[in-house]
Amino acid sequence: MKPRLLPLYLFLACALSTALTPAVLANELPDLGDVAQADMSPALEKRIGEQVLNEIRRDPAWLGDAEVNAYLLRLGNRLAAQSDEARLNVELFALRDPMLNAFAVPGGVIGVHTGLILAAESESELASVMAHEISHVTQHHQARMINKAGQGQIASIAALVVAVLAAQSNPDLAIGAATAGQAVNIQNQLNYTRDFEREADRLGLSLLERAGFDVRGMESFFERLQKYGRLYDNNTPGYLRTHPLTTERLADIGNRIQGRPYKQVADSLEFQLIRAKLRAQEGAAQDAIIYFDTQLKNKTYTGNVAAVHYGLSQSYLRAGNLVMAEKSLATIRQLKVESSLFLTLAAALRMKQNDAPGAVAILRKAYVSYPKERAVVYALVDALLASGQAKEALRITEDDLLSHSSDANAHTLQAKTYAMLGRRLQQHRAQAEAYALSGRLGEAISQLEFAQKAGDGSFYEQSQVDARLREFRARLEEEKKLAKIN
Ligand SMILES: [Zn+2]
Repeated sequence: MKPRLLPLYLFLACALSTALTPAVLANELPDLGDVAQADMSPALEKRIGEQVLNEIRRDPAWLGDAEVNAYLLRLGNRLAAQSDEARLNVELFALRDPMLNAFAVPGGVIGVHTGLILAAESESELASVMAHEISHVTQHHQARMINKAGQGQIASIAALVVAVLAAQSNPDLAIGAATAGQAVNIQNQLNYTRDFEREADRLGLSLLERAGFDVRGMESFFERLQKYGRLYDNNTPGYLRTHPLTTERLADIGNRIQGRPYKQVADSLEFQLIRAKLRAQEGAAQDAIIYFDTQLKNKTYTGNVAAVHYGLSQSYLRAGNLVMAEKSLATIRQLKVESSLFLTLAAALRMKQNDAPGAVAILRKAYVSYPKERAVVYALVDALLASGQAKEALRITEDDLLSHSSDANAHTLQAKTYAMLGRRLQQHRAQAEAYALSGRLGEAISQLEFAQKAGDGSFYEQSQVDARLREFRARLEEEKKLAKIN
């Protein structure tokens, strides 16, 4: 078993918030029952969320799959749109982890384990856990728990924050094992209380209903999660540890949905495709092939057969059997079902066959049909660079960054594009933006210093670099000051 990551994340959220909230560090702690938003402004919550996200991005479990994350974001936004909080911004991502888990940190950052996505037997089930997490965010439960943790912990939390921030400005410095152990201790005291759980269930159910999902999904999924939990006596799976599922809670959910009309909600094709993609990455490639093959042979699948062929094609691609992967894709084409995921898979196959121009041809069309899909943009730029078409790649990244200026990955792709074009100042400048957006200010500054020395920019470009460098240096000073508060 690999060490659990979750407690550290939740803890980081708390730790960072403390560093940035002198009010909490003061001796007078606010009343425990109140919404602690007074101590944590929306801007602060957002900042904590960003910092935690930057930490998680460096974790080996970070899946970094633009298609999976885009799906989770769409589902999350559909639920969040039903909440009373105006303009709730959520940031969702998947972690490669078989443990059935999902978690929320302040600022609307929600992580979902791949194990949980695969364990959900319907989209309503997956949505029920996300609706519950979104409710923790809208109710600011994290902020309220930080206050509950009490004074005794504050000092150790503050000490940890310094370690966390130090690790951020110096990425080579890992957070020590002792620190992580301490984090787990504090986490135990920050577990959601029964009242918070009940509130998140209640509000989650209403989000679920208003967003058009089957509310019974929450009951069925939570029941299964509880059964799963019983199999692991001392080693309770993450979700149950941080969100204890009691018989009382289940009865409460049961009571709330009693008498609601039965509602059959079909799973979206995207839900089925995302699950198939994740399933294809599970275990040995050969086993994944057998899994999908058996479903087709015995007709045991419940959703769209195209999703089964898609899973099979992904499994063959993973096993390096490109001929069979193509064959499954050809079957999908005959089914006349459309999704950007089929096109990115077709392009990935071309790339594996060392046919970058073939991939470009597919992705150019995909870009026209699905201009908003991040995965399509990323794959197109990659394929263009692989086929030596850096000028077109540059045009696309420039266009794309107009509407996605805070996407670190887009800046990284642009840096690669500039590198291929031999434009060194711009390469380092783009790389600096990517680092800054990932919370790596120190490295961003180094990149801008390289840009200053590149000597291949216009006067205008040079002054842009100088101005940005001053800005980043000031920002770094600010962060160092914040880290010293204790
Ligand atoms: Zn919970």
